[in-house]
Amino acid sequence: MNPRVSRRTFVSAAVAAGVAARSRAQAGPKAKGGDTFDVAIVGSGVFGAWTARHLLARGLRVALIDEYGPGSSRASSGGETRVIRMGYGSQEIYSRMSWDSLAQWKSLERTTGERLFTETGMLFLARGKDELTTDTLAMLRKLDIPHEKLERPDLVARYPQIDFGPITWAVSEPRSGALFARRAVQTVVREFTKNGGEFILGQAEAPATDGAVTSIKAGERTVRAANFVFACGPWLGKVFPDVLGDRIFPTRQEVFYFGVPPGDDRFGPPKMPTWIDFGAEIYGIPDLETKGFKCAIDKHGPKFDPDSGERLVTAESTAMVKSFVAERFPALKNAPIVGSEVCQYENSSNGDFLVDRHPKHSNVWLVGGGSGHGFKHGPALGAYVADRITRGGPTEVKFSLATKDKVQARVVH
Ligand SMILES: Cc1cc2nc3c(=O)[nH]c(=O)nc-3n(C[C@H](O)[C@H](O)[C@H](O)COP(=O)(O)OP(=O)(O)OC[C@H]3O[C@@H](n4cnc5c(N)ncnc54)[C@H](O)[C@@H]3O)c2cc1C
Repeated sequence: MNPRVSRRTFVSAAVAAGVAARSRAQAGPKAKGGDTFDVAIVGSGVFGAWTARHLLARGLRVALIDEYGPGSSRASSGGETRVIRMGYGSQEIYSRMSWDSLAQWKSLERTTGERLFTETGMLFLARGKDELTTDTLAMLRKLDIPHEKLERPDLVARYPQIDFGPITWAVSEPRSGALFARRAVQTVVREFTKNGGEFILGQAEAPATDGAVTSIKAGERTVRAANFVFACGPWLGKVFPDVLGDRIFPTRQEVFYFGVPPGDDRFGPPKMPTWIDFGAEIYGIPDLETKGFKCAIDKHGPKFDPDSGERLVTAESTAMVKSFVAERFPALKNAPIVGSEVCQYENSSNGDFLVDRHPKHSNVWLVGGGSGHGFKHGPALGAYVADRITRGGPTEVKFSLATKDKVQARVVH
């Protein structure tokens, strides 16, 4: 058995489920039907996919189940790009996880040869006494993460294509940037199956009875496992309505891509960084792979159903984003919208992630609450979940079910 796996913790869970834990090396060829696993994971978004990858690397037999396939247009992980930044105000845990994740994303890029990340740099735009950005500055200093404080004259000199308006200073993170989200998730899942993991397309059902779970239904199949992880993102409340129905808040979020002027390289890297203006609740990613200059609304939208929701942007948001872009990026005043996405955040009450055991099933883990900032953390979060399953140990209080309220009050930005 992989020495990093605590045999005692894992085997006790396995025995409870009537399944012997074994390493992949010991497991030999898959049983006919291949439906008995050490861990079955429902949801192949960024959280489920990286959890599967880490568990497989620890020598376990792992199934990954998804009803729509990895990184589908309905999943929160299914967009074109996602920001990866280290600055999180005083929330040290997320700065650390993001830094750790960046190294893992780059390593996956090297292993697969896929382009998953672009180092565009990241700019946190601030106004006057900005507490969040001031805390970010202090945390980046503390953790020795590369950064620079830029005053208004520095900003104007460095980024002449931006009209900074009310912005008086900023923090720049040169090592941060953007991840190609959908491609990245699909790459993680492809590597998972290439290395012996099993992907199952099908809708999984929540366990029907209380206590330790031995199997779940996934489409036509019965999947048996020692442990189960439900990493269902915005669907968590639908899958477990009694526990999470009023603790996960899926909100409708709109994303726009603007066509840059012909022959103009000012809106792509290296001239344009990824940026966020928390004061305006708007952020953007430069023109990558000629998709267009991305500008998106971070303010939480209305409640949204990930299965049935139509994904067409509204006239109101379009007008708001167009007017913001015209003001902040004058050369894009008349730029056409060349693409758009409607996705959903899967918010917890305060923006902290959820990683905890189901209160009625000792071997079922609930994983989610990415809350509009989870994508970047997939690698570190997946390793964290894999460690809890294989090594046991206390769970981080911030991630616990007990800290997930029924009223939204965002504290993680
Ligand atoms: C517009 C937008 C912008 C964002 N920007 C950023 C950003 O810049 N940076 C960042 O770090 N994060 C960002 N995020 C947040 C990030 O994308 C999410 O937090 C993250 O992708 C959540 O991943 P997940 O695996 O929890 O959920 P998902 O990706 O939604 O995956 C859940 C999966 O579970 C499957 N599933 C659900 N129920 C079942 C079932 N019963 N049976 C089988 N399968 C099931 C679904 O099909 C889905 O594939 C953004 C999100 C959105 C919507």
